[in-house]
Amino acid sequence: MERLQKVIAHSGLASRRKAEELIVEGRVKVNGKVVKELGVKIGPNDKVEVNEVPLTKEVPVYFLLYKPRGVISAATDDKNRKVVTDFFPEINERIYPVGRLDYDTSGLLLLTNDGEFANILMHPKHEVDKVYVAKLKGIPLRENLRKLEKGIVLEDGKTAPAKTKVLSIDKKKQTAIVEIAIHEGKNRQVRRMLEAIGHPVLKLKRERYGFLTLNGLSAGESRELTPHEVKQLR
Ligand code: URA
Repeated sequence: MERLQKVIAHSGLASRRKAEELIVEGRVKVNGKVVKELGVKIGPNDKVEVNEVPLTKEVPVYFLLYKPRGVISAATDDKNRKVVTDFFPEINERIYPVGRLDYDTSGLLLLTNDGEFANILMHPKHEVDKVYVAKLKGIPLRENLRKLEKGIVLEDGKTAPAKTKVLSIDKKKQTAIVEIAIHEGKNRQVRRMLEAIGHPVLKLKRERYGFLTLNGLSAGESRELTPHEVKQLR
């Protein structure tokens, strides 16, 4: 949800100040009704008209961000914490994340203003492999990882089979680094799956999303997807 004047400004039609004037003057309609108050919030499906003309759709843009830890996967936060769109100060389009990574999870996150594209990727039928690297408390037994490979029952249902690989173990510290690939996107899924086999996650990073990787990027950096990548993802 975003403020009406911001949406108008982002469409390129007017500055924020001018957009406010247009609203107060009664020249803006939301879903066919004149809105004169400032601060009304609207969502992506609300239809905005200015002087009876529908706001033109933004040019679609697509970005890949290496999200650092300690950032909210949203376009705004009511507690004013850092959000992923803060990494795009130059972008005027109303971008938002495709799905989310936890506040404490780092890694690959896509952002776009193309709602249809985001919906396709987030649909459970769209089985994009997402590969995570997790640092675990304790050293997991092969048989426990096999439980994840078969699918494990969490409070919101059984998970689809995951692929797992132990990358390294630290016997002294009793920790392990494990790679885990899933294609679902339940809330805190990787953390809950590993917790369910007795290994709390100490650190989590998403390394891969389908064929996309973080190659060439440091935490906080981003790049645009190429038209070819966008086409391949759909
Ligand atoms: N699974 C999690 O537990 N956390 C994430 O951020 C992503 C997947």
